[in-house]
Amino acid sequence: MKTRPGICQRKRRFATREAAEAVALAADVTLRAYKCALCKAFHLTSRTKGLRVPRPLEGEA
Ligand SMILES: [Zn+2]
Repeated sequence: MKTRPGICQRKRRFATREAAEAVALAADVTLRAYKCALCKAFHLTSRTKGLRVPRPLEGEA
């Protein structure tokens, strides 16, 4: 998933997935944490449709 620079700069940034998910859990809406390819930090998105959770490559040939 590519993240547009404009989105990245406007979103909140979290240093760790745990920090992002903690905020996501406290929110009223469903949020998902994802790692940003631009800033290497984590953002939250409310768009869960079509968003795939990045999986570790291990186990996948
Ligand atoms: Zn970012």
